[in-house]
Amino acid sequence: MLWFILSGGMTLKIQTIDTLLGCVGQRNQLLVKVVTECGIVGWGESGLSNREHAVIGAIEHFKSFLIGSDPRRIGRIWQEMYRSHYFEGGRVLTAAMSALDIALHDIVGKALDVPVYQLLGGKQRDLVPCFACAYTEADPDKMEDLVKEVTALIDLGWTTVRVIPSGFDDPEVFEPRDSIVRTARALEALRKVIGPDITLGIDYHHRLSVAETASFCQRLESGTLDFLEEPIRNQSPDAYAALRGLTSVPFAIGEEFCSKWTALPYVERGLTQYLRVDVCNIGGLTEAMKVLGWAEAHYIDLMPHNPLGPVCTAATIHLSAAAPNFSLMETHQGPFSKFGWHDPAIFPKQHPLQGSHYVISDAPGLGVEVNEEAFRSSLPIVAEAPHLRRNDGSHTNW
Ligand SMILES: [Mg+2]
Repeated sequence: MLWFILSGGMTLKIQTIDTLLGCVGQRNQLLVKVVTECGIVGWGESGLSNREHAVIGAIEHFKSFLIGSDPRRIGRIWQEMYRSHYFEGGRVLTAAMSALDIALHDIVGKALDVPVYQLLGGKQRDLVPCFACAYTEADPDKMEDLVKEVTALIDLGWTTVRVIPSGFDDPEVFEPRDSIVRTARALEALRKVIGPDITLGIDYHHRLSVAETASFCQRLESGTLDFLEEPIRNQSPDAYAALRGLTSVPFAIGEEFCSKWTALPYVERGLTQYLRVDVCNIGGLTEAMKVLGWAEAHYIDLMPHNPLGPVCTAATIHLSAAAPNFSLMETHQGPFSKFGWHDPAIFPKQHPLQGSHYVISDAPGLGVEVNEEAFRSSLPIVAEAPHLRRNDGSHTNW
């Protein structure tokens, strides 16, 4: 196709860049549409949920020098976006770069008539296994529903299940001490029901301190938990190093990383055992592949964050397909997901989830089609993450 395009006198130069903000299911999605002079369209998605207007602003800045660029020079464009200002980096800019970087991979894949994984070294595996998300809180008072949900997932063939902690009876209040006591009790009871063969994880969504996390882990009998995701915020590698010495439970950290430099201490110092890279935040496929190679050298496996729509999911599938060091991918298309982020009326072509794994599409580019008219009519909602407080009135992490 590339030969055909070039021999026909058409060029691959970037002609237009548009941002599309819409609400699909229960949450907003920010897509980037990059159109080339020869008509090939690339789609990308940004991962900075609830701060989409800041990302749109960053993309407006990037447009001024990206229009007219050759989209095949993906690595050079990444450097130009990152380095062409004095105050480089940060989550807003790398979320914008991520969306554009993914869109450029989509364009080049389509131009070469190959799926994106071919641009990343080819696929290492034939399918992408996922972990299931259970949406019932791990709480002693909700055990009947939790056991029902988790055993139903196991009966459907899922071998790894991630649960969420207790502590949201009042959606505006989160009390860490209460949560860790109740969650630990529920997890021990759940482990007794599901037996030792199922891999069990929990996402604490960085709502704890070092002391609270240590206390939580020490309440669990050995073998209860196979991974603990994001117990504290990742601003301080030293805090994680202190925590690493206080528990033997493997960590899954990284969805907030916004460059190779933010990932660096966690990989090099062995502070995480699974890498939760988010391709829509870290700087796209270009940056994710660099961090992945580095993690491989340290025997750390990719467990990618995938909380958005089909464009994010497709980019994550291609990354997972090409990763030699891979464990499991997050999906919210499992049997109990009610989010509707992958609405087929808006995204008529996607990578199908079959049982507990994604089938890797061999379609050129990302393998996702966007019904632009339907997406544009799905108007964005005013979305703000919950502002949580403790019982004493102080503010705490969402
Ligand atoms: Mg998480």
